[in-house]
Amino acid sequence: MADTRGHGPRPGGSLGAWPSATTVLAGVIGDPVEHSLSPVLHNAAMVELGLDWAYVAFPVPAGRGGRAVEAMLDLGLRGLSVTMPHKAMAAAACLRLTAVAERLGVVNTVTNLNGELVGDSTDGAGFVDSLADQGWSPEGKKCLVLGAGGAARAVVLALAEAGASRVTVAARQAEQAAAAAAFAGPRGAPGQPREAEQADLVVNATPVGMAGVGRSSTSGDGVPSLPLGLSPDRLGPGQLVADLIYAPATTPLLAVARSRGADTCNGLGMLIHQAARQLRIWTGREAPVEVMSAAALRELRKRAESGSLGALGQLEDPVRPV
Ligand code: NAP
Repeated sequence: MADTRGHGPRPGGSLGAWPSATTVLAGVIGDPVEHSLSPVLHNAAMVELGLDWAYVAFPVPAGRGGRAVEAMLDLGLRGLSVTMPHKAMAAAACLRLTAVAERLGVVNTVTNLNGELVGDSTDGAGFVDSLADQGWSPEGKKCLVLGAGGAARAVVLALAEAGASRVTVAARQAEQAAAAAAFAGPRGAPGQPREAEQADLVVNATPVGMAGVGRSSTSGDGVPSLPLGLSPDRLGPGQLVADLIYAPATTPLLAVARSRGADTCNGLGMLIHQAARQLRIWTGREAPVEVMSAAALRELRKRAESGSLGALGQLEDPVRPV
């Protein structure tokens, strides 16, 4: 019998009537997961679309990601977002992976397709979507990615697939940089931060600049140090400088890039678009990205006011840049 759950309206009214026995569940697994913005993004979208779906956060301890994914089948969860440290284990627990997830060996999205678990990775495509919001396409462009971890690899692959002419990766460890650059095939190469000077796009995929993590690392003269010691004079007009970090909204890298005349974009757009792609995969509906973005901005402001995030800086709507 066809599964018609989740197609009715999500009641906005009386508590107790919702969620019901027919509400469809999706969620996120991570460790830690309590600060995840994913429930805010997905529930805002589900309400907007009038879906009888709900999205919750599951704190799943490290090492149990595979079991949590397998449990989707017994619990009838329709979709799971997967965050650190479960991305590789979740991939291993899937019956099938999309081509992108297969290449990366990790997933951030699992879909329960009528009892078949399918893994996907929407991070890289979400990043490219966020560039499109800035009116920017990687086609024929020279890109430099700083960092060689999971996010960097997804970004390198997506930039190459979107037609970048060159993707250079700089990282602390040369072999990691080479491994990440290999995701761009012959157009990828390990390199140095100074190559930012020739790049059309510079992407920070390290946590340097994040609130609370690697923050306030300053060089002796009080100037915030940039990822991998990147020198500000390598940045300038005609470039787009993107940071995958979104809290603070303006990282030291983005502040320096702006002051030198480069265009900038933080990681909030990527976060919204990777979630929008998940929602589209699970529900088959076009995701209301503007509603998701507004919900994210509201939540970030709330957290900044309550002091749980540190100073956020100037928040801008990533899907409607000024
Ligand atoms: P990851 O797998 O742990 O990789 C981190 C990378 O940064 C590694 O190459 C690491 O190098 C490097 N790194 C760490 N500390 C550094 C330092 N002090 N100086 C220079 N390099 C350093 O993490 P990830 O998942 O790729 O995430 C990277 C960043 O992207 C994080 O800030 C994360 O929040 C952000 N992110 C954002 C989104 C979004 O939707 N906006 C999605 C995913 C990730 P080593 O190997 O040498 O340690």
